[in-house]
Amino acid sequence: MKKVVKFGGSSLASAEQFKKVGEIIRADKERRFVVPSAPGKRYIDDTKVTDMLYTCYDLAEAGKDFRVQLKEIKDRYQEIIDGLELKLSLEEEFKTIEKNFKNKSGSNYAASRGEYLNGIIMAAYLGFTFVDAAEVIYFDENGECDAEITNQKMWERLEKLDAAVIPGFYGAYADGTVKTFSRGGSDITGSIVARAIKANVYENWTDVSGFLIADPRIIFKPEGIETITYKELRELAYMGASVLHEDAIFPVRREGIPINIRNTNAPDDNGTWIVESTCQKSKYVITGIAGKKGFCAVNIDKDMMNSEIGFGRKVLQAFEENGISFEHVPSGIDTMTVFVHQDEFMHKEQRVVSAIHRLADPDRIDIEGDFALIAVVGRGMKSTRGTAGRIFSALAHANVNVKMIDQGSSELNIIIGVSNADFETAIKAIYDIFVLMQI
Ligand code: ASP
Repeated sequence: MKKVVKFGGSSLASAEQFKKVGEIIRADKERRFVVPSAPGKRYIDDTKVTDMLYTCYDLAEAGKDFRVQLKEIKDRYQEIIDGLELKLSLEEEFKTIEKNFKNKSGSNYAASRGEYLNGIIMAAYLGFTFVDAAEVIYFDENGECDAEITNQKMWERLEKLDAAVIPGFYGAYADGTVKTFSRGGSDITGSIVARAIKANVYENWTDVSGFLIADPRIIFKPEGIETITYKELRELAYMGASVLHEDAIFPVRREGIPINIRNTNAPDDNGTWIVESTCQKSKYVITGIAGKKGFCAVNIDKDMMNSEIGFGRKVLQAFEENGISFEHVPSGIDTMTVFVHQDEFMHKEQRVVSAIHRLADPDRIDIEGDFALIAVVGRGMKSTRGTAGRIFSALAHANVNVKMIDQGSSELNIIIGVSNADFETAIKAIYDIFVLMQI
């Protein structure tokens, strides 16, 4: 049995946090492959090492003196090394980094040093082998991670090792130039490692005990989610629920490896299990609620639209031509509405309107802004009658006007459009009816 354990920045921000991580790893012999992030914030106003590296490199690139900033970064690591009482020197590493910064080796290289150095410390602390991610994670010329080559190389390298530390967040192009994933990308590295070694579980350790049913900024102390499927998670993540990088599920999903989100500061909590499929009923009919503000609805009317072949395609082409992606497209008999992000659409709206007229010849176009979309997600909805009814009566009682409803045929989620002003009230009403009242 093998477990991959990934630790986020706050779990590795100080020597004290490192010690907690050490205890977690030593508590379970199966925790043999470790993926660390760079040191994160030690306190609220602190700066993540990754951000310090970006700032430092900006100075280097502008030809300015960056030594003070680099020394601050070095001090962050030294504090950890001293606190762990390790006989380890990063002197040579920092000389190389300084030289490479002067040679303008790129901001990807700069940012990746956060994980790289933390990986070296972690490997020394645990007595595990250090494997540089630049040697096992491959990016193609389009800047995309090449999943198959990476899987092969990673497997070849790790197969022979009992235990290893693989720094998160970066890999390299074929010529060895370092390339990072997008921010928060160490989650992806953990998933790639788990796939390559065919781990039994991918444990992702962070500073919360898993996913919550709703956003704690809106709901006071919402309950946690015990088990969620990959599909449900996609729906919630798309609507803004974030604990895990949204690309992190793909490598493990291919192999059916579950992800367990855990809390380094509360290691006894079970956290959230993200699984391919389960017969376990979720505690409530719904698994989670998430949403976002700032959408715009473009309503297109045309008599007899339903019988005109290709109408929808022509309308969507108008958005495509202007580089705008659409979010939802609910339709009626003679109407079709396209939901888009308001900030993306705002500057191009008149161009899109004229393009729709040119391409699809509608009778009328009407634009309405300041919408919020809320996704109510749950595999339990499929087998429960009246879920939609309950949502809408709860919203009516809370005086929220529902402007749009979209239920996919998967019956996994219901998307509701309300005005931005009603967003929080709507989420509270839905949470109350399903969770607090336990219906
Ligand atoms: N250190 C990187 C960041 O701050 C990557 C990660 O933590 O996953 O985004």
